[in-house]
Amino acid sequence: MVRRAVFFTHFALTLAKKQGRRIHVTILDGRNFIQKGPVGCNMCAGVLSETLLHKMESQGIILPRTRVQQEISGYYFQTQERGVQLHHPIPGHKPKIITVFRGNGPRFSELTTNISFDDFLLHHVAAQGVKVISAVVEEIELPKHPQDFVNIVYKEADVRKKMSVDLVVGAFGLNTALIKRIVGKEFGYREPESVRTCNAEIHLGKSFIQERFHNSIYVFALGIKPIKFAAVIPKVDYVTISLVGKDDITKAHLVEFMRHPKVIELFPEGWSLPRDLCICFPKISVTHADHPYANRFVIIGDASISRTYKNGIESAFDTAQLAARTAFEKGISESDFKVGYYHAALKLLAQDNFFGNLLFRIHEFTTSKKTPGKRTN
Ligand SMILES: Cc1cc2nc3c(=O)[nH]c(=O)nc-3n(C[C@H](O)[C@H](O)[C@H](O)COP(=O)(O)OP(=O)(O)OC[C@H]3O[C@@H](n4cnc5c(N)ncnc54)[C@H](O)[C@@H]3O)c2cc1C
Repeated sequence: MVRRAVFFTHFALTLAKKQGRRIHVTILDGRNFIQKGPVGCNMCAGVLSETLLHKMESQGIILPRTRVQQEISGYYFQTQERGVQLHHPIPGHKPKIITVFRGNGPRFSELTTNISFDDFLLHHVAAQGVKVISAVVEEIELPKHPQDFVNIVYKEADVRKKMSVDLVVGAFGLNTALIKRIVGKEFGYREPESVRTCNAEIHLGKSFIQERFHNSIYVFALGIKPIKFAAVIPKVDYVTISLVGKDDITKAHLVEFMRHPKVIELFPEGWSLPRDLCICFPKISVTHADHPYANRFVIIGDASISRTYKNGIESAFDTAQLAARTAFEKGISESDFKVGYYHAALKLLAQDNFFGNLLFRIHEFTTSKKTPGKRTN
């Protein structure tokens, strides 16, 4: 199962090579990333941070230009009263932030080349001999005794199959029915709490986007109470609008956001949301999971521990590395994953998450003290 699975696989292959061990890795994923729209997409805003890009490059994972949408020069912060261009704390530093499409671009788009970031990651490991199967995992049967194998039951092209393996790494995210089946198991896994967010892909054309957004990601604090975080992210011909709230976000919140005068002034005159809209409502975690490990089974990614509200893909990279190191340097028992992976990941991300949540609370408090901006229809 992908992303964290790809990063985990990358680290597993590297560590196995270092230890002179031969391993066989199979990735099962139900999605086909060369499809357009939510069916081929892991539904995120697609911003890759400078630190993640450096970490990937240091591992020889070099994203080709064809999978990059836009290089970002910085962030523009817009409140009800004013807007300010944010600069990097190091004077003269040119940030290396990029935007990508996780799948093969928005639904209804006329793009013809393969631009998917997730497809690139899958190919990165497939090129190293990893088997990738397009299949939906239905069940994970944990071993009764630590020395037994784990079984995976999956459906490939409508045929039910079973595979017995040494270790299963569950990187299935939050937007899957599988999670409920894992919660029902005896080892005590509890999924993270989550809320539904909204991503919408809007076609505005390259020249308009260049002129209006100047390669900046626009971040908004407009006093619209249900919305904690709103961003408009340029991607050549499209912008991705990403909304995160305290509770579930719906299309009505997107409409409300688009009607705010500060948002209206960024879009072409007379523009309104198109009917053919590529829109999705993926879950984002607001807490971390309990007990995401058992003998020969470890859960990584959003279904386990992630940085709250930011850099989910970089958390994927970091925690996949911790899980792979544990498996290769300590072992694959429940207690190995508890200490080597889970406790270490909590330590790594706890401080970030504490300050991230604090900032959101301060933001909520300050915006609740202001009258919302005048709305137009
Ligand atoms: C609105 C929003 C905006 C975001 N923006 C950013 C951003 O700009 N930058 C960033 O770094 N992060 C961002 N994130 C976070 C990022 O999307 C996640 O952290 C990351 O995708 C999590 O990776 P994952 O592998 O855990 O899960 P996913 O990316 O959800 O991947 C899970 C995979 O498992 C597969 N799968 C699930 N169930 C099964 C099954 N039963 N059988 C087979 N396969 C299965 C799915 O097909 C999928 O490919 C954002 C998240 C949201 C909600």
